[in-house]
Amino acid sequence: MKIICIGRNYSEHARELNNPLPSKPVFFMKPDSSLLINNKPFFLPAFSKEIHYEAEIVLKISRLGKNIQSQFAHRYYNAVGLGIDFTARDLQEVCKKAGHPWEIAKSFDQSAVVNRFVSVDTLPDILAINFRLDINERTVQQGNTKDMIFSFNEIIAYVSRFITLKTGDMIFTGTPAGVGPVKAGDHLVGFIEQQVFLDFCIR
Ligand code: ZN
Repeated sequence: MKIICIGRNYSEHARELNNPLPSKPVFFMKPDSSLLINNKPFFLPAFSKEIHYEAEIVLKISRLGKNIQSQFAHRYYNAVGLGIDFTARDLQEVCKKAGHPWEIAKSFDQSAVVNRFVSVDTLPDILAINFRLDINERTVQQGNTKDMIFSFNEIIAYVSRFITLKTGDMIFTGTPAGVGPVKAGDHLVGFIEQQVFLDFCIR
């Protein structure tokens, strides 16, 4: 199982981090050891002073595929969930400046939070999914997948040119504006439409 994450897929988020808008999807990966499931607490790691939350819609791949054409990409995922792409923003800034890979900032243990998934046909509109993240009962991020620069199908087509997608793989599809730091004691609750998908604490 692998986790593929799309960066800079919402223009307002790219702007808030002073990143140029991409002309092709930007992606990176997290190992299976980065998964944090079942609403278990996230433990702040010692190596960073600035862990940021990034709430994202996550696709669950349901078929083996390579070189998938965009018009057929919808056949390759069958479930959608909400995830947090935890990012050591301080380490990421150092990596970006040095032109180094991002793994220490993006792929550490517990950096990929997911909980439950629902079948795509239970959602009112797969092209316009509303999602949000509340921290300590205050909404910090609110997104709609219609604002993505690259759609689910374009992402699957692009990634599968380079990497074979397998059943059970997950794709984090990018975060909207509003990212920020977490601190010990924070309570994170994530929603798709009006349903709770994530509910966990920072320790
Ligand atoms: Zn992200």
